[in-house]
Amino acid sequence: MARYTGAVCRLCRREGQKLFLKGERCYSDKCSVGIRGYAPGQHGQGRKKSSEYGLQLRAKQTARRFYGVQENQFHHYFEVAERKQGVTGDNLLRILESRLDNVVYRVGFANSRAEARQLVGHGHFEVNGKRVDIASYLLKAGDTVSVCEKARNSEKMKAIIEVNGARPVPEWIDVDREKLTAKVIALPNREQIEAPVEEQLIVEFYSR
Ligand code: SF4
Repeated sequence: MARYTGAVCRLCRREGQKLFLKGERCYSDKCSVGIRGYAPGQHGQGRKKSSEYGLQLRAKQTARRFYGVQENQFHHYFEVAERKQGVTGDNLLRILESRLDNVVYRVGFANSRAEARQLVGHGHFEVNGKRVDIASYLLKAGDTVSVCEKARNSEKMKAIIEVNGARPVPEWIDVDREKLTAKVIALPNREQIEAPVEEQLIVEFYSR
């Protein structure tokens, strides 16, 4: 399935909640969810009642869009989560959170996950001292992400760090904004993950 290239605010409106896809604007009163809090399109303000399947589908789409993951890859993550020990929904969320692009965004080294994907793809980050340009790279406990030497001094990175300096960082990551490094202390448990995801509905969706 091709990557969505339309207006991303429509995705938030479709899911009826903020998915934080645009960086600074998401935290301002320009956010489209606040201005037009109904689904986009001709019938956006029409009937809202959903079937059980509809709710499960929306839960899956919300998570997929929040993390910016394509359908095939999302399904693959679900299969991996199912094979792991423990609660499948929790495992799925932990995998999504451990993606390199997510961690780069969570610690404020990018304005959005989309930007994080782009910056990683351009080779601006290292993991344990080695350059990694794969946004879906899965980090483990103990891994350290750092901004590479060249990007560290760029005006763009300085602006990103300044804008996101006050954004709270999850407790499972230890960030050093002076050195521009972030260490994964441990992969998060469900309580430590702030995400608009109803993982049980996703499990039900794929278990139909
Ligand atoms: Fe747009 Fe961000 Fe608001 Fe979503 S949260 S509607 S991406 S401004």
